[in-house]
Amino acid sequence: MQCDKCDAEAVMHAAYSGLHLCADHFTRSVEKRVRRRIREDGLVPDDATPADPVTWVIGLSGGKDSVVLTQILHDTFAKDPRIELVALSIHEGIEGYRDRSLEACEELTAELGVRHETVSYAEEFGVRMDEVAEEDPENMAPCAYCGVFRRDVLSRYAERFDADLMLTGHNLDDEAETALMNVLEGDVEQVAKHFDASLGPLEERTEQDHHVPRAKPLRDVPEKEVALYAQLEDLPAHITECPHAEEAFRGEIQRLMLDLEEDHPGTRHSIMAGYEELAALAADAYGDGRQEHGECERCGAPTGRDICRKCALVEALEESA
Ligand code: SF4
Ligand code: ZN
Repeated sequence: MQCDKCDAEAVMHAAYSGLHLCADHFTRSVEKRVRRRIREDGLVPDDATPADPVTWVIGLSGGKDSVVLTQILHDTFAKDPRIELVALSIHEGIEGYRDRSLEACEELTAELGVRHETVSYAEEFGVRMDEVAEEDPENMAPCAYCGVFRRDVLSRYAERFDADLMLTGHNLDDEAETALMNVLEGDVEQVAKHFDASLGPLEERTEQDHHVPRAKPLRDVPEKEVALYAQLEDLPAHITECPHAEEAFRGEIQRLMLDLEEDHPGTRHSIMAGYEELAALAADAYGDGRQEHGECERCGAPTGRDICRKCALVEALEESA
């Protein structure tokens, strides 16, 4: 097959657009979509200047998504004195898994000359995910603990670095899966939160959320294309799966989504287009009513309860130890 834009041989076919692209045109199309998303989301503030730059913290796990995100952000902004990039990695304490992916992070950031910081659950909370999975005092999937801890670390460190924005490598498949899960679980409040946290206009993300606003510049790029980009650009991405990955419902949704996409190319895109509109309405309807106005008694994090979810989990783990 030949590239639709030149005479070179195609390396991919996107069923949803019908396009065949060569390596060169494909990588450029990925970069274009990421830059367009950054523009459309208004991520670079008009008033950022070289004398008063903004700081962007990138959540870098060493997997293909965050590695591709870091590379493209670096290629786009390394020479832009209005933007300072910091990569932040988390060591969850997962034997044989995280050490290897952190090596990928080190390698990439050293090569790009991007500042890189690593924080661990062990130092932050006195827990390691391997033990958490073992003890499991709340009887939930390991990822449920891990997600709470990760959000806490990311938002606290984003604040510590005086970040203006927290960027993560969620791709189109991730976002469409989350959208479908929220809808199937009937969780309208979660839909509203999803919108406020990372889909809506940046000014509102800042206003609505107590945390540093988030952005997902890869959210228009399907997972397979992110993987192909990493491979073609020879990026040091780590591919093994975490041994604790067992978010059962997401796994089912993943399989469903792949089947749907195969039979009806473009499903992920249309889910997201419709979901974003619905999510905007949901966020509007909920307004400020569901804001977390209180502060955690133990750590000061914003929460609607006396102590926040993260502190409650740490306490449960301490008691079960
Ligand atoms: Fe944490 Fe689950 Fe990701 Fe493993 S798969 S790092 S347990 S969230
Ligand atoms: Zn707390």
